[in-house]
Amino acid sequence: MNIELTQDHVFQTYARQGRPFVRGQGTKLYDDQGNEYTDFLAGIAVCGMGHCHPDITAAISAQAGTLVHVSNLFYTNPQAELARALTEKSFADRVFFANSGAEANEAAIKLARRFFQAKGESFRFKIVTMAQSFHGRTMATLSATGQDKIKKGFYPLLDGFVHVPFNDIDALKSVLDDTVCAVMMEPVQGEGGVIPADSEYIQAVRQLCTDTGTLLIFDEIQTGMGRCGSFFAHESYDVAPDIMTLAKALGNGVPIGAMLASETAAQGFDIGSHATTFGGTPLATAAALEVVRLMSEAGFLASVREKSAYFLAQLNRLKEMHKKVVDVRGKGLLLGMELDVSKGKTATEYVSECFKKGFIINAIQDKILRFAPPLIIEADEINQLVAVLDNLLAGEEH
Ligand SMILES: *Cc1c(COP(=O)(O)O)cnc(C)c1O
Repeated sequence: MNIELTQDHVFQTYARQGRPFVRGQGTKLYDDQGNEYTDFLAGIAVCGMGHCHPDITAAISAQAGTLVHVSNLFYTNPQAELARALTEKSFADRVFFANSGAEANEAAIKLARRFFQAKGESFRFKIVTMAQSFHGRTMATLSATGQDKIKKGFYPLLDGFVHVPFNDIDALKSVLDDTVCAVMMEPVQGEGGVIPADSEYIQAVRQLCTDTGTLLIFDEIQTGMGRCGSFFAHESYDVAPDIMTLAKALGNGVPIGAMLASETAAQGFDIGSHATTFGGTPLATAAALEVVRLMSEAGFLASVREKSAYFLAQLNRLKEMHKKVVDVRGKGLLLGMELDVSKGKTATEYVSECFKKGFIINAIQDKILRFAPPLIIEADEINQLVAVLDNLLAGEEH
């Protein structure tokens, strides 16, 4: 029933699978026929603390009965407290709240441009981004994105974006001149295929930006909020950006985005420069505040790193056993397994086979399996998924 309703009345922009989901708890999802699934995708790296975490549900419920929205013409407590929590946790001094990842990136792009235009340097407007990057689907963030396939049909895009190969410092050097206001990158490319930045590369990017007075923007929409084993992925590289964007896991499923900046970079905006009706509502910020609190508990991030090491070891074992597995990579609990799909099953077929067995994973470019489970995933759940993958891989060898 809901499948037909969706097919009849919702834009057919998504290829959906399975029966409608009706309930989630922790790492498990349940469909309308009572089937249980172990979630290794977490709503695309969103439900980091798992589905319907009781403390987050309580925070949302309490706030929903107290104050949901008043607009940014007024002060509210949850927004103020979340801004303090995020700046205490990061390099940043100020936060602009948005409603999604794309909107957080829009804010970052606008801030970078206005930072120089406010100083009379309007020639400095270009933003360098990476090939295979993903920054969102609005016109500006699509323009920033380094993937041609999702730009098709939307030309002309916004002017002033230059794309260079990822992990190639010479390519970046060759385009950094005084017309560039910012470099924008993901510390680990998510949609691009789970590709971590090399340490030397990201450190050299930071140095180059500092030397040329260029703003460095880290899109941590997917990699932030504990996903990569530190609060923000860039911490593990020992570099900090001037501007950072967050969204996905920030509200554990309640839509919220954030653009954070150093005090210096933040000077690009003043009263009236940028705005959004819903950004940072009491409801969304109360949810996010509880997420930050839970992720700040002693041992939480260490447990993510432990599970990551365990999961990686299991995936590498599959790589040793099966020729079809050509690469295993990632950071924290954002992991990818690249398959040789020149013959046999595609990554999308692996996703459906896993789904039939009760495991939710995701495919990128039809050859990479992406794993982004709730950060509370347990070792025995990892073992169960790995056993399913092992069987599928072995099944292709006879
Ligand atoms: C998901 C994502 C976005 C876009 O976020 P939306 O909330 O879908 O607009 C931007 N950048 C990265 C790295 C993402 O993973």
